Amino acid sequence: MKRIAVLGSTGSIGRQTLDVVRANPDEFKIIALCAGTNAALLARQAEEFCPVYLGMTEETAHSALMANHVRGELIVGPMAAETIASLPEADLIVNGISGFSGMAPLLAALEAEKTVALANKESIVCAHALVDEALKRGGQILPVDSEQSAIFQCLQAGRKEDIARLILTASGGPFWNLTKEQLREVSPEQAGKHPTWNMGKKITIDSASLFNKGLEIMEASYLFGIGGERISVLVHPESIVHSLVEYQDGSTLAQLSRPDMRLAIQYALTYPHRQPSDFGRLRLEEAGTLTFFAPDRDRFPAIPLAYEALREGAVLPIVYNGANEAAVAAFLRGEIRFTDISVCVEYAMAHIRAQRPKCAGDIYEIDRQARELAGKANH
Ligand code: NDP
Ligand code: MG
Repeated sequence: MKRIAVLGSTGSIGRQTLDVVRANPDEFKIIALCAGTNAALLARQAEEFCPVYLGMTEETAHSALMANHVRGELIVGPMAAETIASLPEADLIVNGISGFSGMAPLLAALEAEKTVALANKESIVCAHALVDEALKRGGQILPVDSEQSAIFQCLQAGRKEDIARLILTASGGPFWNLTKEQLREVSPEQAGKHPTWNMGKKITIDSASLFNKGLEIMEASYLFGIGGERISVLVHPESIVHSLVEYQDGSTLAQLSRPDMRLAIQYALTYPHRQPSDFGRLRLEEAGTLTFFAPDRDRFPAIPLAYEALREGAVLPIVYNGANEAAVAAFLRGEIRFTDISVCVEYAMAHIRAQRPKCAGDIYEIDRQARELAGKANH
């Protein structure tokens, strides 16, 4: 039985992880659950899965958890996710925290030489150098993000030396065929609806702006050790082909499935094995036509900015991420336009003055500066 700790259990990835565990009760045991603020849902999850540890990063949640009469040891406060990420009793840590907050728990888990099923892409984008160091000492990352899981699966069929190119697919989000003028008028409500995936708020906006794909270009580069010049993006609105690997002999392998994150989560949980699942079979005759387009870099600056950040590879990936997070929050508050998100990121990338980070503290400082610069971009 694999003993699993889920970070971000109340979110989209967390809840779908619990679906996978619920469907495989003989394979997995939930040892710990950790959330940010949603005490009521965490309490319901605790009742069902009876974890030994329950964590919440929000201090005020303590009384809410107590009021729900939860059993299990409570770990409450800003360090809760890091503590749970490094529990000696856990065999596998699922990192489903959203945003930059997922970084410290990833580093804590790898320091403790854990296997991490990683959905949180922001952490590896910002801390890739520290992650590489930690992986040399032990620990392992298994990708959960559907594109990275697809590449990881396609790589089982060939050697790294034989890779010509990684091809990441992108649904394109709801706006991939809008004009620049139409994109300016997009509301948070429109951007919050994704055509093929049901995800958390931040990643849904990132999918519409293609900043999610930009983060994934960097995530793929850092996970698989392939430079940006050998990573391409293909818009594929049906979200059936999750990504591809082109080998140097001209053969291209793809991974296909219905767009259901539980398949990618389950693969990370059962790797290197495959387990039967009821999450739906792909019927290509029902899917009909699959379409592919090159992304428009002019309408979606997130893509060229990501390649630029990846080329620099030290400070700019952190700035790209931090400025985007701040800009998305401002967009959701109605303070800036949808098209201003990339303006904020470009401005922060152009104006940052920082040295290559050497430790987590340096990364926090660059992230702080990036958010501050993003706030100045539209004034
Ligand atoms: P959600 O917003 O749905 O969930 C985020 C989870 O993280 C919630 O459980 C939230 O708790 C928790 N959380 C937030 N901040 C903290 C913190 N500081 N400490 C501990 N827990 C915290 O996001 P998603 O599940 O959509 O995304 C999670 C990550 O997975 C992101 O990095 C995203 O890019 C990635 N991802 C998601 C996919 C998806 O289909 N959803 C697909 C591929 C990647 P609470 O709600 O209790 O406050
Ligand atoms: Mg993805």
